[in-house]
Amino acid sequence: MNSEALDVVIIGGGPGGLSAALVLGRSLRKVMVIDEGKPRNRVTAKAHGFLTRDGMKPSEIREIAHEQMKHYRNVQISKDVVEIVEKRDGLFVIKTRNEKTILSKKMIVATGMKDHLPGIPGMKEVYGKTLFHCPYCDGWERKNETLAVFGNGKALMPFIKTIYNWSKDLIVFTNGKADISEEEKQQLMQRNIGLIESPVTAIESTNGKLEKVVLQSGDVVSRKGGFMVTTGERQASAIPALLGVSLNEKGEYETDEHGQTNIEGLFVIGDAKNTFTSLVGAASQGYEAGVKINNEFVEEKWVDSDSP
Ligand SMILES: Cc1cc2nc3c(=O)[nH]c(=O)nc-3n(C[C@H](O)[C@H](O)[C@H](O)COP(=O)(O)OP(=O)(O)OC[C@H]3O[C@@H](n4cnc5c(N)ncnc54)[C@H](O)[C@@H]3O)c2cc1C
Repeated sequence: MNSEALDVVIIGGGPGGLSAALVLGRSLRKVMVIDEGKPRNRVTAKAHGFLTRDGMKPSEIREIAHEQMKHYRNVQISKDVVEIVEKRDGLFVIKTRNEKTILSKKMIVATGMKDHLPGIPGMKEVYGKTLFHCPYCDGWERKNETLAVFGNGKALMPFIKTIYNWSKDLIVFTNGKADISEEEKQQLMQRNIGLIESPVTAIESTNGKLEKVVLQSGDVVSRKGGFMVTTGERQASAIPALLGVSLNEKGEYETDEHGQTNIEGLFVIGDAKNTFTSLVGAASQGYEAGVKINNEFVEEKWVDSDSP
C-alpha cells in the first residue's frame, strides 16, 4: 500500500460523514473529510428529534462537530468538492475542484440527496419554513394547524394517515386526477379531509409563512402550513454510480447493512443510502461504518504482522 495514502477519505460532512470521521479519528486512523458545505436541511431554521440537539440550527450542530473534531489532529476537514474518483492499484484517487489529488485506502460517501421541488411558483419560498416532507422532523410545530398535503400516487394514502396524527384539518392537493380508489376517497370524506384535484398554479406566502394555495380553477384555499409526499429528491453525487454501485428503485445506493457497497473499500451512508435517514439515523450509520472500517484495518494489520 502507498504510504502517502490516507486511511479513509469521507466525501460529505453532514451528520453521517462527521460521525464516521469521529469514530475513525478516535481509532487513530488518518482521515480527511471533504465537504462542499451544502447539506439538504440548510433551508430549515431548526432541526428536531436529535437527542440533546432538539430545536438547534443545523449549522450550529455542524459547528459543534467541527469544534470537537479539532481535538483529533489525525482528522482534517477540507471545504472542497470532489469531482472525480478512480480506483487504481487498490487505492481511491480523489480529485477535487480545488485541483487537489488525494489517495486513500478506503472511502466513505456521505453526500446526501438534493431536493428538486415541483416547479410550482412560490413553493421554494415556503419549503423548510412552513412546508415540509418529514412529520417526525416538523409535525409537532404544525400540530392542529390548517394543513395542505401535496402529493399523489401509491404513497399518498399512507402519508395522509401519518399527517392526520398531527392535524385533523387537512386538504389534499393532488395537482391533477387523484390516483386513489373510490374507497379511499370515502375514507377521506368520512374524516372531513378535503381532496382537490385541480392543478395548483401558485403558493402565496409572507416571509416563508404559507397563506394560500392558488388553483387553476380560479379558487384560492387558505392554509397555514403543509407537508409533501416527495421533494423530488435525487442523489447529490454520482461518484458511487461512476465507480459501479447500483441504485435501487428509490434512487438509493445499494449497500449491505453496514454501508459496504459492491466495490471493495467503498461505503455509502446516510441519505445517499436511505433517502431520508434523519440526523440521528445518518450519525448512527456513520458510527457503524467507521467501526466496520476500523475492524477491517485491525484485521489487515494483524495478518501483516504475523510472524513466519
Ligand atoms: C427541510 C428539511 C428539514 C429536515 N429536518 C430534519 C429534522 O428536523 N430532524 C432530522 O433528524 N432530520 C431532518 N432532515 C433530514 C436530515 O437533514 C438528513 O436526513 C441528514 O442531513 C442526512 O445526513 P447526511 O450526512 O446523509 O447528508 P447531508 O446532511 O445532506 O450532508 C451531505 C454533505 O455532503 C456534501 N456533498 C455532496 N456532494 C459532495 C461532493 N461531491 N464533494 C464534497 N461534498 C459534497 C453536501 O454539500 C453536504 O454538506 C431534514 C431535511 C430537510 C430537507
